[in-house]
Amino acid sequence: MPKTGEKPGAGQYTCKECGKTLTLDDETDKLPPCSNCGGTEFK
Ligand SMILES: [Zn+2]
Repeated sequence: MPKTGEKPGAGQYTCKECGKTLTLDDETDKLPPCSNCGGTEFK
């Protein structure tokens, strides 16, 4: 599972803690912490 600071590629990721969806537009974007709960694990 992707975590904050990794570059998993463009796509949609869902916070494991709260379920908020985060979108990365670029292959080189790093995953930020969840803007809702500060979680660092996504799926
Ligand atoms: Zn969250």
